Amino acid sequence: MQVLLEEESKTFKSKVNDFIKDYFTNKEINLRDLWKSLYKDSFISPGNSLLKNILLTEALCKQNPGIGLFLLTEFACTEIIKAFGDNDIKSSYLDKLYTGENISCFSLTEPNAGSDVTMIETTAQKKDTMWLINGHKIWASNGSICDFIITFAQTKSYKDKTGVTCFVIPTNSNNIQVLKDTPKLGVKITPSNEILIKDLEISEENQVGNIGDGIKIALSAISIGRIYCAAQAVGLLDGILNECIKHSTKRNQFGKSISEYQAIQWYIADMTKDLDAARLLLYKAVWAKENSPNEVNKLGSMAKYFSTNAAQKHSSNAVQILGGSGLLESSYVAQAYRDSKVLEIYEGTNEIQKLVISKELFQ
Ligand SMILES: Cc1cc2nc3c(=O)[nH]c(=O)nc-3n(C[C@H](O)[C@H](O)[C@H](O)COP(=O)(O)OP(=O)(O)OC[C@H]3O[C@@H](n4cnc5c(N)ncnc54)[C@H](O)[C@@H]3O)c2cc1C
Repeated sequence: MQVLLEEESKTFKSKVNDFIKDYFTNKEINLRDLWKSLYKDSFISPGNSLLKNILLTEALCKQNPGIGLFLLTEFACTEIIKAFGDNDIKSSYLDKLYTGENISCFSLTEPNAGSDVTMIETTAQKKDTMWLINGHKIWASNGSICDFIITFAQTKSYKDKTGVTCFVIPTNSNNIQVLKDTPKLGVKITPSNEILIKDLEISEENQVGNIGDGIKIALSAISIGRIYCAAQAVGLLDGILNECIKHSTKRNQFGKSISEYQAIQWYIADMTKDLDAARLLLYKAVWAKENSPNEVNKLGSMAKYFSTNAAQKHSSNAVQILGGSGLLESSYVAQAYRDSKVLEIYEGTNEIQKLVISKELFQ
């Protein structure tokens, strides 16, 4: 696989791995501190290529897969501001986001708007130069640790699909209530929150892009978010493969190491094959972003669908290989097993990925 990476990317990857070795020793993970350290050590910067961000995500997710949700949220929000924010929004939010002074949150999903994002019911009403926003968001990643939210509201009439607009709103207002972290199965390190917005007045300068462009903006961020989600799954697959090889060569039963049993070898062979295939699809999607933009949607969905499906299947097999020790709360494979399920759900469920792939083929 290394053969696909240029020398510069290999050097970057190796520096990231050195950083990880130092950073994660005996330390409680604090996401803001992690992001700041990544900036300080020049692993993130506005000029980073998508490939660099993907290699970073992959390596960090090998360490702890749940970090991927935090990272993809930060990267998706920077993409939105870079592509659609005006100069004022860029200067107010982008620098602080990169330095870690600010943490962002992407909040689209609502109780009645999941896969069908056009169903959002949050409203924004124009009053002179201000917008009045009311709504209820759920599953907002980074909600309880963020400084601002990129959110979406109906700005024409209620449930008019063409009237969704994007806004950036600072969270330091009494009119925004971020509820306590939603308890969940996996990716626990990244908080998920419900957000209630009541009679929030913001300036028209907080509008991102044109009125009615909200769905286009959201989908463009989700399209790149899927590639980050695939990188999260690839990092997870790499992590469990590592654990399975380590454990199976050390563990002896019936007079030999369990790695000598074909049953175990086959699990690990399948895992290795799918990890390589997932990585190839991931790097192809990254390549397409620069070289074949028309294919990004299809390839990003293929990479996300394949790699998250493989992560879910093989993390279950990894627990099987580790036996009882794979069930320990503290075990990497137990965490990977829990983390992998949600990868099949966010950034569009895998059923939605199949819709995207077939739509791209037939249109
Ligand atoms: C941990 C976590 C983090 C998240 N982070 C964020 C975030 O930061 N920001 C944000 O805005 N959202 C976030 N989400 C929300 C996430 O994007 C949605 O959960 C996801 O889009 C699916 O929506 P839903 O849960 O309402 O499921 P539903 O849309 O209700 O889907 C339920 C089932 O129906 C299937 N289905 C729906 N429509 C179709 C169709 N047309 N064809 C075939 N099958 C279909 C789905 O595939 C799924 O199996 C997060 C979710 C989770 C669990």
